[in-house]
Amino acid sequence: MATTITLEGLSKHYPGHGGGVTKAVDDVTLRIERGDLFFLLGPSGCGKTTLLRMIAGFIEPTSGRVRFDDRDMTNVSPNKRNTGMVFQSYALWPHMSVAENVAFGLRVRKVPQAERTERVHEALRMVRMDEYASRKPNQLSGGQQQRVSLARALVVRPDVLLLDEPLSNLDAKLRLEMRAEIRRICKEAGLTAVYVTHDQKEALSMADEVAVLTMGKVAQVGAPRGLYERPSSRFVADFLGETNFVKAEVVGETNGQLQLRTPAGALLSSAFDAAEISPGSEVTCSIRPESWRFANGAPDRPGATIKGTIVQSTYMGEVAQHLVELPGEVRIKVFELPPSHLGGGTGPHEERVTLAVAPKDVVVLQR
Ligand code: ATP
Repeated sequence: MATTITLEGLSKHYPGHGGGVTKAVDDVTLRIERGDLFFLLGPSGCGKTTLLRMIAGFIEPTSGRVRFDDRDMTNVSPNKRNTGMVFQSYALWPHMSVAENVAFGLRVRKVPQAERTERVHEALRMVRMDEYASRKPNQLSGGQQQRVSLARALVVRPDVLLLDEPLSNLDAKLRLEMRAEIRRICKEAGLTAVYVTHDQKEALSMADEVAVLTMGKVAQVGAPRGLYERPSSRFVADFLGETNFVKAEVVGETNGQLQLRTPAGALLSSAFDAAEISPGSEVTCSIRPESWRFANGAPDRPGATIKGTIVQSTYMGEVAQHLVELPGEVRIKVFELPPSHLGGGTGPHEERVTLAVAPKDVVVLQR
C-alpha cells in the first residue's frame, strides 16, 4: 500500500565550527503524495541525504515530525517503518547468489520458505533479472547489480522506497536506460518513492514532483516542467539548466503582459507574479538559451525583437551554442537547433542577427 509522506518543520542541526551549528536540514515542510516518484534535488551539502535518512529513521531529527499517512513515525525505529532502501553502492553480499541476496530480508522477517521463493521470483521478474537468480554478484554488470539491489528493496513489499543516488556508479548510457526502468518499476509496484540526486536531468526526466534544496531549505517544489519553465529564484533557474539573467526595469502592464526596459532593448513577459511587481521596480529575468529564435528579416518590433552580434559560436552536432552581444554590453547564450548561423564553424565570428523571444519565456524572478 502506497503511503503519503508528510514532513512538518523537520530540522537536523549538528555542532559546527567554533561553537556554532550546522543546519544540515532547516525547517523543511513537504507533502509527498501517495504513489509519487518524488525527488530531493540539490548541490552537494544541501542536506538531501540527511533528509532521506530522517524519513528512513536512521537519523533522529532535532525538531519536527515525519508522518506516513496519519501515523507519526518520528520516533519509530527504522525496521518498523516498512521502507526499502537503495544506495549508490549496491551493497550486495558477494558470497550469496542473486536469489539469496534478495531473499535475505525475508529470512530476517522469518517468512516461510515457499512464500519466500515465490516473492523472490516476483521481485526478480519485476526488475527483469529472473534469469540471473543463481549468479553471484561479481558475475553481473553494474546495472544488473543495481537491479538486484532494487529487487532486494522491493521484496519486502515496502510502503515507501527510498533511493540515494542509485545511478551514480553507472556509466552514462546505462544511467539513461536505468532512469526509465526505475520509474517503470516504481509505478508498477505502486510505491511512494523518494529519490535523492544532484543530477538535474535525472530529476527532470523521472520525477512526478521535485523539491529543489539549498543550504538545508526547500527553494521550490513543483513538477519538472513547471520548475524548469517558471523558476522563482536565481538559484533554481541556474541549478536546473543553463540560463541568461537579464536585469530590467518594469515600465507597465497591458493585457497580462509586462513591458520591460533592459539595456539591450524592450522585452515583454507573461511569466511573472503580478503581486510582486510595480511600475519602476528593478527585476531580474531568466531567459533560457533555447528560448531565443533567430528572426532575421522579421520587421523590427519593440518587445518582440532585439538586434545583436554573434561573437562566438561552438558547433556541438545537433545544436550550436552562440554567444551574442546585445546593446548595453549584455552578452547572452543562444542555443540553435539545428545549427545554421555558424560562419566558419566553431570559433569567433561576427554576424549581425535579430533575435526574438516569446513573452512566456521571459521569466521575472521573485528573488
Ligand atoms: P552530498 O550530495 O555531498 O551527499 P547532501 O546534500 O546529501 O550532500 P548531507 O550529507 O545531507 O548533504 O549534508 C548536509 C550538511 O550537513 C553538510 O554541510 C554536511 O557537512 C553536514 N553534515 C552531515 N552529516 C553531519 C554530521 N554527522 N556531523 C556534522 N555535520 C554533518
